[in-house]
Amino acid sequence: MIEIPESITIAKQLNDTVKGKKIIEAEAGHTQHSFAFYHEDPAGYANQMKGKRIGMAAGIGSMIEIELEEKNFVIGDGTNIRYYEPGRKLPERYQTRLTLEDGSSLICTVAMYGSMFLIDPEVYDNFYYLVGKEKPLPVTGDFDYEYFKELREEVSGKNSVKEFLATKQRIPGLGNGVLQDILLEAGLHPKRKLNTLMEQDWRRMYEAIKGILSKMLAAGGRNTEKDLFDNPGGYQTLLSKKTVGGPCPYCGNLIQKASYLGGTIYFCPYCQE
Ligand SMILES: [Zn+2]
Repeated sequence: MIEIPESITIAKQLNDTVKGKKIIEAEAGHTQHSFAFYHEDPAGYANQMKGKRIGMAAGIGSMIEIELEEKNFVIGDGTNIRYYEPGRKLPERYQTRLTLEDGSSLICTVAMYGSMFLIDPEVYDNFYYLVGKEKPLPVTGDFDYEYFKELREEVSGKNSVKEFLATKQRIPGLGNGVLQDILLEAGLHPKRKLNTLMEQDWRRMYEAIKGILSKMLAAGGRNTEKDLFDNPGGYQTLLSKKTVGGPCPYCGNLIQKASYLGGTIYFCPYCQE
C-alpha cells in the first residue's frame, strides 16, 4: 500500500512524464473487480475523460490526485498506477486506462481493493479526501512541534503509539508501512501506551516522523512499494517483510513480527521498549 513517500514520488513522476498531455481515449471497469470502487458509474468515465488535458498531480496522504481540467481523478492507496510508453503492450487485466495523444497510457490496477474516483473537487466531500487535502503533511513546515502537540490532545493515555500515529486519519498517509521504521528510530514499541511516555519520548517520535519520511521521500519511496515505472523505491526498509527474522541494524537482535490493530507490526525487542 502506498503511503506518503510513494504518493508524493508518483505524483512528481506524473508531473514530469504526462502533465500537459491530452487524453484521446479512456475506459474504466475494463476488468471486473469486486473491490474496485468508482465514483458513480465507471461506464461514464470514458466520455468525461476523453479530450481532457492532464494537469497537476499531487500526493494527498495515501492518495494521488490528478487534475483533468474541471474534474479530478483521485486514486486510493490500493490502486496501482503505471506508465506505459508508446508502443508498449498493455496488460490484459486492468481497471482503468487513460491513453494519451502521444500513444502512451496510464494503467490503473487494483490488487486487493482500491478506488479510482473521477470527481468534481468543488463538491466532493469524502472524509479521507478532505482530511488528506486539509491536514499538513509531516514533510512540510506546517507540521511543527506545536501542531504535533495538538494531535496529542485527540487521544487518551490508554491508546498505544500505533493507534496514535496510524489510525483515524490523524496523519493522513502515515500508515502501518512507514510506521515501522519511524518507531524503530524513535525507540518505541508500537504497542507502547501513550501514558508511559515522557516528553523526550514524544520529541523523539516527532523527530523520527520528520526524519524517516524525509529519507523515504528523498529515496523515491520504500523498497517494498513500486513507483509509476514499476520500479521499487530506493529507501531500504529497516523493519518490513523483507527484513523480519534478520538482525536489527542497530543491535543485531532478531527482528520480530506480530499482528496488531489490523496489520503486521515489525519490531526489535531490544531497541523498542
Ligand atoms: Zn535493535
